[in-house]
Amino acid sequence: MDRQRLVFEIDKLPEAGMKLERVIEGELFDIEGEDVSLNESVKLKGELKKVRRDVLFSASIETVATVCCSRCLQATPQSVRCMVKAQFKPKAEDIQSDSEIELSSEDCEIEYFEGDVISLVDVVRDGILLSFPAMVLCQENCQGLCPQCGANLNLNSCSCGMDAVVDPRFEKLKQLKEKLK
Ligand SMILES: [Zn+2]
Ligand SMILES: [Zn+2]
Repeated sequence: MDRQRLVFEIDKLPEAGMKLERVIEGELFDIEGEDVSLNESVKLKGELKKVRRDVLFSASIETVATVCCSRCLQATPQSVRCMVKAQFKPKAEDIQSDSEIELSSEDCEIEYFEGDVISLVDVVRDGILLSFPAMVLCQENCQGLCPQCGANLNLNSCSCGMDAVVDPRFEKLKQLKEKLK
């Protein structure tokens, strides 16, 4: 089971830390929404380091997700390359620990764990989700959807834009009305 390959018993982690290399099925991360889905495998390369009861995790993540284009909503493959850093802290001990170890930097997530195992699933998942740019485009010059009829303007043009051009028959009527005033 892939989930087990991202779960570690703290007591079994070597003091010197351990290198980590995994290829995990994307489905494990349960990213399955309208806007984003992840079905490709996720490559993870990094390390785990034990500092007393804390565990530091850092890794580079590589995968390909499917994201909706921000303009035309077309499903678009989006390559993901990001760094994930997390500091796992034991939940119970955290409160009374007077010698708080501050190893975390700003871009490091703090995760609390209970018991003797940590799971990297959530931090990797968060890292992937946070890596997407605010705007994803299927192509650089995506034409988007027509705001009136919803047609995908990359695939077909619609006639909504024509409204700006005044129908000559109406134009005559308008002139007539103006004369009658
Ligand atoms: Zn698009
Ligand atoms: Zn239209």
